[in-house]
Amino acid sequence: MKTVTPSNKCPNCNYIIDRASSIDSERKPTKGDLSVCFNCGTFLIFNRDLTVSMLSHDKFTKLDLSTKQAMLKAKLGILEVHQDENQN
Ligand SMILES: [Zn+2]
Repeated sequence: MKTVTPSNKCPNCNYIIDRASSIDSERKPTKGDLSVCFNCGTFLIFNRDLTVSMLSHDKFTKLDLSTKQAMLKAKLGILEVHQDENQN
């Protein structure tokens, strides 16, 4: 499910973020949900208005293992997509 969010920028790479896709359910993001920048793979967290902020390393380390694995898997997938694009 794709959700349109307020247009804002990735705090790491300035990529324009104006939508979000859920990896595990058919629901819209809410405050505190985690995300990954589709351009650079930076870990993000949704604010109340559905803009995003950088997820601190401290907060990341406190996540449970399965959440960390899902985040890292998403990041790797994104990096692989962009690597393939750069090689073609
Ligand atoms: Zn980014």
